[in-house]
Amino acid sequence: MHQPDTSPWQAAAACAGLSPSVVFSRRGKEAAPALRACAVCPVSRECEAAVAPAESWFDGVCAGRLWRNGRPVKPRRRRGEAAAELTSELTAAALDATLDATALDAAGAALAGGSRG
Ligand code: SF4
Repeated sequence: MHQPDTSPWQAAAACAGLSPSVVFSRRGKEAAPALRACAVCPVSRECEAAVAPAESWFDGVCAGRLWRNGRPVKPRRRRGEAAAELTSELTAAALDATLDATALDAAGAALAGGSRG
């Protein structure tokens, strides 16, 4: 019986037991199990070196990323994440403005107190 050639690093791949349709999926939802495997994979570097996703125009999961036509696919934000991020940035900006105003008030008070002299 013919056994496919397997490099030593491939035998240690965390995704070894997953279906090729998962590992070579172009879609994030379907590729999620492979991406989770990458997070604990001991041969991630070997995988990326062997696959060379950018040069090979790879489609699928390699070294913790989903690739499409050799380009890493950005994870899609869930609904509400963008709004939460914006709210956080606005809160930080408002806090900075409040601190600036407080510092100005303190400086003004110090100047006023100093001018009474
Ligand atoms: S890095 Fe990810 S895709 Fe590559 S062998 Fe490991 S688990 Fe599989």
